[in-house]
Amino acid sequence: MNKPPALALATCAALLVSVAIAGDEAMTRPDRADLILHGGKVLTMLETEPAPAPTAVAVAAGRILFVGDDQGALALAAPGARVIDVKQGTIIPGFIDSHAHLYGLGKALAEVDLRGAATVEEAVARVAQAAAANPGRSWLEGRGWDQNDWPVKEYPHRKLLDRMARKRPILLRRVDGHAAWASTMALALAGVTAATPDPAGGSIVRDAQGEPTGVLIDNAVGLVTKVIPAPDEPEVRRRLRLAAEHCLRLGVTSVHDAGVSWERAQLMRRLVDEGALGVRVHAMYDDEAATLAAALQAGPWTSADGMLSLRAVKLYADGALGSRGALLLGDYSDQPGHRGLAVTNQDHLRWVMRTLGGAGFQVCTHAIGDGGNRLVLDLYEQVLGELKPRDARWRVEHAQILDPADIPRFAKLGVVAAMQPVHCTSDMDWADERLGEGRLKGAYAWQSLLKTGARLCYGTDFPVEKVEPLEGLYAARTRMHPDGTPIGGWRVEEAVDARTALWLYTAGGAWAGFAEDEVGVVAPGFRADLVVLNGDPVACEAAELLGMKAVCTVVAGQVVAGGL
Ligand SMILES: [Zn+2]
Repeated sequence: MNKPPALALATCAALLVSVAIAGDEAMTRPDRADLILHGGKVLTMLETEPAPAPTAVAVAAGRILFVGDDQGALALAAPGARVIDVKQGTIIPGFIDSHAHLYGLGKALAEVDLRGAATVEEAVARVAQAAAANPGRSWLEGRGWDQNDWPVKEYPHRKLLDRMARKRPILLRRVDGHAAWASTMALALAGVTAATPDPAGGSIVRDAQGEPTGVLIDNAVGLVTKVIPAPDEPEVRRRLRLAAEHCLRLGVTSVHDAGVSWERAQLMRRLVDEGALGVRVHAMYDDEAATLAAALQAGPWTSADGMLSLRAVKLYADGALGSRGALLLGDYSDQPGHRGLAVTNQDHLRWVMRTLGGAGFQVCTHAIGDGGNRLVLDLYEQVLGELKPRDARWRVEHAQILDPADIPRFAKLGVVAAMQPVHCTSDMDWADERLGEGRLKGAYAWQSLLKTGARLCYGTDFPVEKVEPLEGLYAARTRMHPDGTPIGGWRVEEAVDARTALWLYTAGGAWAGFAEDEVGVVAPGFRADLVVLNGDPVACEAAELLGMKAVCTVVAGQVVAGGL
């Protein structure tokens, strides 16, 4: 049985919160609902679903007042309450993406999207359109072109870009991020000329006369990106808003943001004060000296409305599997003699764990390879043994490849594995080349971890992957690509059942972000973060998840996307 242990806790917490609120806010807490969702089916994600299933939720002042039948909910309506018939939709707790990069998503959304451009002319036309739509932007950036999609499968030339935007530099990344197409002005600003030598690990594509064509490969892209000015605050705000809106449209109401600077965190605080953050954010501070010093001085902090928590820190133990940066215990199967990289000095990791962990911060460490994971577990074991914190909930971000001997250590140490179902399906076609059959036993081992009693939470790592949580549920259940391959699923014994998948995307994430008394379930007293889906994500066939949609999203009792 793979039922996560937190279910029982969540139920108790619901009761406790109700009692606490009755005590604290008895004078002010409204007993009439300002928002009612009815005519659906509620999946509460409590330990046991009530039978018969509730059909309605009543919300008052941002919190859930009542979960039950339509009649009971409608009877609570205050005058002027918003009443929404969800038309047989399923009401679930808002999705919690437990590992993502909100600003990265906003930056990607702010760029010209060139994916799927069928010709080079179409790519140029999209850039021209963006140039016209954004007259104030000093640089135009884009991503997603692929010359293999074009009738003439050749790298494009800078002159095509010069023709339509002479006054502004342009940089467009290729779909894989390993090349970019720059305009003449961008090259000029970067000082790239025929005389510029290729940088180490990169190349400048040149024509027969030795002149740069505008296409830059790998590290040569950095020659241009380093001269792009940092965006000003209005642009950063715009990007964060784009990202939040995108999440809300898809039903994601909370994001665990894996690495923010002190400065970005302060901007997020201002957005909370203005009521403009949009999604709930559990932010992890990045591992920069200035960020850590300021965070230590400020101490762990959560906003009164629960929209933002600044009580975690993000570290890196190793790199990624695709680029063979993940630290392995043995050699890469496809590169003998190479075991990946320990990207951060161990003494520094230990120092941050002791110092920030000792000050009450949650430590979240990126580890992908079995070597990286062992390194982190060893350090966690040592430092947690010294600190003996009461409720640490330290996390390993990704925990992709585990030596089977290390799997039980997560539960034993109380360490959370923050995992991404879509990473499994993105990597499964080539993971065996890197790792060999023997090491796949502990790869994306959700079921093996759950069986040992470990805590997990699910997310996507967007914008590395798409935000779509329903695709994450599909990957978690099937370990197949959306096209249904490989038939039967890749190492399907590690897949999880439909309810567990949803739990890890809601209540499991809430626990991993210290918010299990606030969000993650649909129960009285909890904050009203809700999503209406036009299908039942637990009762449906896995393939149906791919056609399902969030039709209405509610954060803190406000309808923020869709609306029926
Ligand atoms: Zn990440």
